[in-house]
Amino acid sequence: MLENKRESRTALTNLGEFKLIEHLTKQVVIKNKGTILGVGDDCAIIENKNNQTLITTDLLIEGVHFDLSYMPLKHLGYKAVMVNLSDVYAMNGRANQITVSIALSNRFTLEAIEELYEGIHLACKNYKVDLVGGDTTSSTKGILISITAIGEVNKEDVVYRSGAKPNDLLVVSGDLGAAYLGLQVLEREKQVFQVNPNAQPELENYSYLVERQLKPEARKDIVEMLAEMGVRPTSMIDISDGLSSEILHLCKQSKVGCNLYEDKIPLDQQVISTCEEFQISSTTVALSGGEDYELLFTVSQDDFPKIKGNPNLTVIGHITDKKEGKHLITRANQQIELIAQGWNALNKE
Ligand code: ADP
Ligand code: MG
Repeated sequence: MLENKRESRTALTNLGEFKLIEHLTKQVVIKNKGTILGVGDDCAIIENKNNQTLITTDLLIEGVHFDLSYMPLKHLGYKAVMVNLSDVYAMNGRANQITVSIALSNRFTLEAIEELYEGIHLACKNYKVDLVGGDTTSSTKGILISITAIGEVNKEDVVYRSGAKPNDLLVVSGDLGAAYLGLQVLEREKQVFQVNPNAQPELENYSYLVERQLKPEARKDIVEMLAEMGVRPTSMIDISDGLSSEILHLCKQSKVGCNLYEDKIPLDQQVISTCEEFQISSTTVALSGGEDYELLFTVSQDDFPKIKGNPNLTVIGHITDKKEGKHLITRANQQIELIAQGWNALNKE
């Protein structure tokens, strides 16, 4: 996890907008040869030779998408970058640049924004991405952060949501449900703290879950691994809203059906034990939890020997004709229709 402890508190008004931007971006060293010009002029300049350019953007609002009472600003910065890079990787692309726009209320100090940018810079370093621009303004309440990621992909290598074919295998990277449970654990600790401010958080048994919520990693490694293995997914999407809604997106855009096998869904041991403790179904958590930022994709049956036994990948089902519908095959071998609940529905359980 990311450590951060700071004592001093410098008001942003002491600095002014331009000094702040300069201060936050002075450490940037351009890493990608396609980045011709970064921060400092009216525009950044990017050159993507013969490749297609990928652009994706996300807006995060305090109180809606994150809660600073348990989300340290450094983690927020890191996660805000990951959310965007994940979308670039889901197109089978390479992420090269980001822009970062922030709106801040006067509640935030220079030290707080430095923490946010430490997370942003760390993400850029770990994923070899250049911070090339952004915008800085004030807000009347709270903090808003909008990140745009820019990437590239060879025209022949783009993977759309729409390419899945009947008989393709449905594959997922990593494991599912942990990020949602991490959020539940943090929410619970927040409530305990509100009742008793001296209570020490009890997070040891949930370390993996909390890490998955606070410091997700976009699966650049999976995209690179598939390329090395010579596997070209036929369709792909990243898991931000929960497995079921992402599968339904793939099926809708590819005009196909699917069978998903409950017993194949990859779950970490901490997910299983915490679901038992919270008395919720681990399948429901994986299907509707969200924020896992794993990759969900389909491959042709011919590629099965290449992915078989790979510890990073799990075959969880297969694609069918559209008329066969979209189903979850339960452990009891029942066929039930796959529906998208999203995690809002989960909260009401
Ligand atoms: P303009 O008035 O043309 O919008 P700004 O003064 O907002 O220019 O920005 C100056 C430079 O600093 C530009 O290169 C811009 O992309 C960059 N920049 C502004 N805010 C941020 C930020 N929060 N993070 C990174 N770069 C930023
Ligand atoms: Mg500006």
